[in-house]
Amino acid sequence: MEDFFGSDFSKKVPSEFIQKFPGNVELWLKREDLLHPRISGNKFRKLKYNLSEARKKSLSKLLTFGGAHSNHIAAVAAAGKKFDFKTIGIIRGEELAENPEKWSPSLRYASESGMKLEFISREEYRVKDSVAYREKLKQGFGDFYLIPEGGTNEFAIRGCAEILTKTDSEFDYICTSVGTGGTMAGILHASEEHQQILGFSALKSDYLLEEIQKMTGKTNWELILNYHFGGYAKVNADLIDFINNFYRMYQIALDPVYTGKMLFGIFELATQQFFPENSRILAIHTGGIQGIEGMNEFLRKKNWPQIIGV
Ligand SMILES: *Cc1c(COP(=O)(O)O)cnc(C)c1O
Repeated sequence: MEDFFGSDFSKKVPSEFIQKFPGNVELWLKREDLLHPRISGNKFRKLKYNLSEARKKSLSKLLTFGGAHSNHIAAVAAAGKKFDFKTIGIIRGEELAENPEKWSPSLRYASESGMKLEFISREEYRVKDSVAYREKLKQGFGDFYLIPEGGTNEFAIRGCAEILTKTDSEFDYICTSVGTGGTMAGILHASEEHQQILGFSALKSDYLLEEIQKMTGKTNWELILNYHFGGYAKVNADLIDFINNFYRMYQIALDPVYTGKMLFGIFELATQQFFPENSRILAIHTGGIQGIEGMNEFLRKKNWPQIIGV
């Protein structure tokens, strides 16, 4: 059953050596972004067991939620198209319903991939997980397989555990970007005791710590809250400079919402000798490249420099 996706979900991605820092600290990058151009990195991992669960339940329709720039929405749309599911995206922001010219590249892509987009107000979006709203969705769309916002649930965590492979046990630190924490929970699940998992929060949040605690019994982890750059999807000139320099140096694109911030943090921490001598660090490139275009539209309006690499 789980194999109906063919080889896509078991594709091996390379880990590439990035650079050495003082103290003989080595940084490597696991290229999960190479899994699929649109079903980006971790969103691909999160969908695997959800899609097989939907198949098992004979549900041919996937319904999920997200904001206008959501990597998850783009991933569900792409996965639906690829694996023959109908898809419905419940999108925050009713004003977009009447103004398709204001749609982000992510929404345009989702729609072109066959996703039905339903725009709702911020008030309604806030209660989207209530029983009453679920009932309303059922009335409107019939039976569907529901995937939560951001894609995190127990099946997602199981899929993300497959990010780490046997040979990764030689690394002392595994670093990942954190939105809901589902990816980190999966990596933790697969980690070994001697490894420390560092989660770089992409949002300014005081509840994430608890959220992750709910998803894991392990203690070999730390949430790093210093590199959200003011909050979710917020950027500044230093971050854009870093992302562009990284691309010039390594020809690897980083997204500004997640992986760019994580790597900025790793570089700064390594320079400050946060990592003990001879540490080997594996950073996970969780993808998110599809979001660069939307960020660049925003930056262009502000007359800021563009992010390169796409
Ligand atoms: C969604 C996303 C994350 C965050 O994943 P969570 O499991 O929600 O913590 C990290 N990186 C990228 C590129 C993402 O799209």
